[in-house]
Amino acid sequence: MSKQILVTGGTGYIGSHTVVELQNEGFDVVIVDDLSNSNIDVLDAIEKITGKRPAFEKFNLADREKTNVFFEQYKNIDAVIHFAAYKAVGESVQKPLEYYRNNLVSLMNLLENMKKHRVSNLVFSSSCTVYGQPDQLPVTESTPRKPAESPYGNTKAVSEDIMRDFSHANEGINCIALRYFNPIGAHPSALIGEFPVGVPNNLVPFITQTAAGLRDELKIFGADYDTPDGTAIRDYINVVDLAKAHVVSINRLLENKQQSSYEFFNVGTGNGYSVMQLVKTFIKVNGVDVKYQITDRRAGDIEKIWADTTLANEELGWEAEKTLEETLESAWAWEKKVRNIK
Ligand code: UDP
Repeated sequence: MSKQILVTGGTGYIGSHTVVELQNEGFDVVIVDDLSNSNIDVLDAIEKITGKRPAFEKFNLADREKTNVFFEQYKNIDAVIHFAAYKAVGESVQKPLEYYRNNLVSLMNLLENMKKHRVSNLVFSSSCTVYGQPDQLPVTESTPRKPAESPYGNTKAVSEDIMRDFSHANEGINCIALRYFNPIGAHPSALIGEFPVGVPNNLVPFITQTAAGLRDELKIFGADYDTPDGTAIRDYINVVDLAKAHVVSINRLLENKQQSSYEFFNVGTGNGYSVMQLVKTFIKVNGVDVKYQITDRRAGDIEKIWADTTLANEELGWEAEKTLEETLESAWAWEKKVRNIK
């Protein structure tokens, strides 16, 4: 019988790509999502890509009662991947309680029910934001975490601590936190991708929307950083590669291969690109124009970060495969599809 995976936030950007990869590998998926930042039509797209429609339940996991009822109904879950969370850094500064309540209570409700229903395995969406501006690059998993710059970032650090403490206190509970670097791009089918509500905060959706004519120009936040071209450096990871890191983490847990009950891995490419390099590569590979202007730095941004991925490569047997070029092509193909651009 195929194993059943609960994917919370499974209609979201990274969640939907992960559901596709799980179903391609023969897993049964049930999605829980409150659709607060995603669309139900994503289920049609997943079905179109994989030939299989995942089960779906709409509720917010911060609701303890509804989460309890869900686990009473779905008795055969083998593992959980927890994506469902609020993720806007700026908004979290304005609404800290909403962020702490939603992101932390949902994790606690899940863990409580995993223990009660003997579901052993959890993969969690963490972020390289827990490193802050590291003193040494690239960052390895032994690089110390730094105090969070935002309530959002703090929910990721505290969630990691909750999983560490809970898995140590309860034999049979095993967690893997994946520290994502900057996920970008879309599925090669262009049937699923990132669909931000309102004005995008993130770089690549802002670029694709500018190329599509929805935005006048991209603002490049700062060209006076201590980097070769002065713009900030990140490690941009293709979303399908990232999705596959979840599948190998699930297999590691199901096959009991973990070294300890709580593990965490960097999930990036190991390469750093500057904002300017990214914009220029996008323009070149897609043959479209993107108007841009250099402006002041954005508050809270770090100067540079990229991953040392040795641990993920060796322990998970996972490696990013897609090039930046093909990833930026996929981002534009998706934007064109959404906007009906030929
Ligand atoms: N950035 C930019 N203009 C934008 C959005 C982002 O110059 O409209 C820069 C941002 O300052 C950072 C990089 O692009 O250096 C990646 O930002 P993003 O918000 O995508 O991810 P973050 O690294 O902040 O999580």
